[in-house]
Amino acid sequence: MTAAAAARQILTRLTEVMASRMHAQGKLDQVVEIIGECLSSEVCSIYLLREGMLELFATRGLNQSAVHVTRMAIGEGLTGAIAQKIDTLNLAEAKAHPDFLYRPETGEEKFHSFAGVPIVYRERAVGVLCVQHVEPRRYEDIEIEALQTTAMVLSELIANAELVDEEEARVLTQEQTGPQALTGLTLVKGLGAGHAVYHQPRVEITQVMAEDTEAERQRVYRAFDRMREQIDTLASQAEFGVGGEHEEVLETYKMFAYDEGWSRRINEAIDSGLTAEAAIERVQQHTRMRMREIDDPLLADRMHDLEDLANRLLRIVAGQVGTAASQGLRRDTILIARNLGPAELLEYDKRRLKGVILEEGSLTAHVVIVARAMNVPVIGRTKGVRTTIREGDEILLDATAGSAIVRPLPQVADAFQTRFAKSREKQATYASLRDVEPFTRCGTRIQVMMNAGLRDDMSSLAMTGADGVGLFRTEFQFLVSATLPQRERQTRLYRDVLDAAGEKPVIFRTVDIGGDKSVPYLASEIAAQDENPAMGWRALRLALEREGLMKVQARSLLEASAGRSLYVMFPMVSEPWEFDAAKTVFDEQLAYLRAQKKQLPERIHFGAMLEVPALAEMLDVLLPKLSFLSIGTNDLTQFLFAADRANPKLAERYDWLSPSILRFLRRVMQTSIGSGVDVGVCGEMGGRRLEALALLGIGYRRLSITPAAVGPIKELVRKVDLAELSTAMTGWLAAPGRSLRAELSAWADARDIEYD
Ligand code: PEP
Ligand code: MG
Repeated sequence: MTAAAAARQILTRLTEVMASRMHAQGKLDQVVEIIGECLSSEVCSIYLLREGMLELFATRGLNQSAVHVTRMAIGEGLTGAIAQKIDTLNLAEAKAHPDFLYRPETGEEKFHSFAGVPIVYRERAVGVLCVQHVEPRRYEDIEIEALQTTAMVLSELIANAELVDEEEARVLTQEQTGPQALTGLTLVKGLGAGHAVYHQPRVEITQVMAEDTEAERQRVYRAFDRMREQIDTLASQAEFGVGGEHEEVLETYKMFAYDEGWSRRINEAIDSGLTAEAAIERVQQHTRMRMREIDDPLLADRMHDLEDLANRLLRIVAGQVGTAASQGLRRDTILIARNLGPAELLEYDKRRLKGVILEEGSLTAHVVIVARAMNVPVIGRTKGVRTTIREGDEILLDATAGSAIVRPLPQVADAFQTRFAKSREKQATYASLRDVEPFTRCGTRIQVMMNAGLRDDMSSLAMTGADGVGLFRTEFQFLVSATLPQRERQTRLYRDVLDAAGEKPVIFRTVDIGGDKSVPYLASEIAAQDENPAMGWRALRLALEREGLMKVQARSLLEASAGRSLYVMFPMVSEPWEFDAAKTVFDEQLAYLRAQKKQLPERIHFGAMLEVPALAEMLDVLLPKLSFLSIGTNDLTQFLFAADRANPKLAERYDWLSPSILRFLRRVMQTSIGSGVDVGVCGEMGGRRLEALALLGIGYRRLSITPAAVGPIKELVRKVDLAELSTAMTGWLAAPGRSLRAELSAWADARDIEYD
């Protein structure tokens, strides 16, 4: 008999049983008979979860007197092990397995071979289905597949007949796997607690048996087509990861998406009578089992990709294409994703989003910058996420330590709450610095400004007492919008921002789209052109060519600042002429408004960002044109080190405290002295304490940083003597090691300066 035929026969007969008016126990008794007959198996048994134990509910072949008498704890014996690990066992000699436990009341001593599969409902094991034979034999794939299919059908019966208590199953399965720790890379510090929500939700299979096999086949065909289309356009989606490994992963995805074997197996499962969803899941279960038997880390990685893809196919088939954001967060949430784009993160309800765990991610990826601005702790490069975390699991995220505890014990959760309280106390100390001006011990006033990008961020200005907004990322409004924001909308935003800032300055950066900040309405143009988007058609390059975009923004900014000071800066200036060209756009719009007799800004200050190393060679030409220069260390570092800022593999490789970047920054500062141009740093680097110390030590006096860092950096500034620090930095930079981290930490320790 073929795999499909065996399963088909079981399913046809099960369908009749399920549709009958028999009570649940009667149905289970029939099920074990049917499977036993179809697989010519001497024993077939069903164990279900009751009061925390796996209880024998029905059997063919074991002593009937054992029914409702034999009970095993989760993890006890072979049956318990299957439920605990949610895994299949296929054994020629059951007694040889270390978990084997003999139960005399069942009369099972004469049976040698054993195969069992978990009955899973809502990702929890609620029972076990197993077969036994007198003959020592390993079961064939088709038999295991038939058992898995039956287990799926049973889970539906169990749910409908309310044979097990779902809440009980939930609690038990949590206990059964117990607490587990995950580690990752700190991307945004902080603590957060909540329940796991997958950004790409898993589909819950509610109907296993098909009513119309042909219709199911068509659904799968269409889903495969859509999935293949999606894979072909995936490269531009942030969820999939930008740069770095994504090429390789994409290749694997393509390989699976076009794999005839995979679609054939799904079709066979449909032939056996399953719905499209159940067929995909069944094939996936089987693949998981096969992969586990092969102990190869490379294959494990591929499995991860296939899981991702199968989930995508399931979501297409089930018509659940939105992310978890579209369903809304119902309680405090720790969001789990492979990767995210900044716009995707912004779709989540800020009040309920307590943390993010990424499988990829890097420090300066824009999603991380947005999370930092939202004050949402994030860890990245986290291993074992999908095998450890299930939807709804409780998670304590300690992003500062780069760790998460999944399904914590109550006492651990209590200890976490205590730490939470301490960190709130610390926050209160920072809040008390709100109105304190950041003077160093030697009396120098340091400008501590904050970075922002959304209207909502402006409330942080008063809360932190920052000196102004040193970088307003105007592209964020472009990222959260499905269409290009119109002039009126832009003007309104800029005016609101200026109103919220009051007397404090706001430096608007013109749009920096491209790189890892792709927008749907320009994605095709960007993707079509660029193999390496960070170095491609982005930021000012794009804005100057799409002059309409720049003109609209210039006019909006000028109108919004009527009667006040406007600070505007251009991103990714690579050569001085680009600055001139961008300024000309503003000059023309200014002339137009003047001709229209519109009220103009009182003063306009033009600045440039230094992010492209080439510009550092042209400071003599550039500086006379500027009122200020702002160093974007996020991009600058990626170009200096030729290391993609979004590539998780490189996330820890280059240190901001490496002498090359510090020497570079010091040279820029020294070249600017006497030019009258205010030079500051607005990259993430300035918000980290040791890095901020280094910047102060090489002469920087203006930092624009993420709002959460304003308090800590003010506190630090007040403990620093600049002359002492600068002498130390000069010494270290003259004869440096690989990084200045150790030296700066020791220096900070000696002065009671906290730094992480
Ligand atoms: C930078 O590159 O350092 C910067 C501040 O700009 P963004 O992070 O938005 O690219
Ligand atoms: Mg930048």
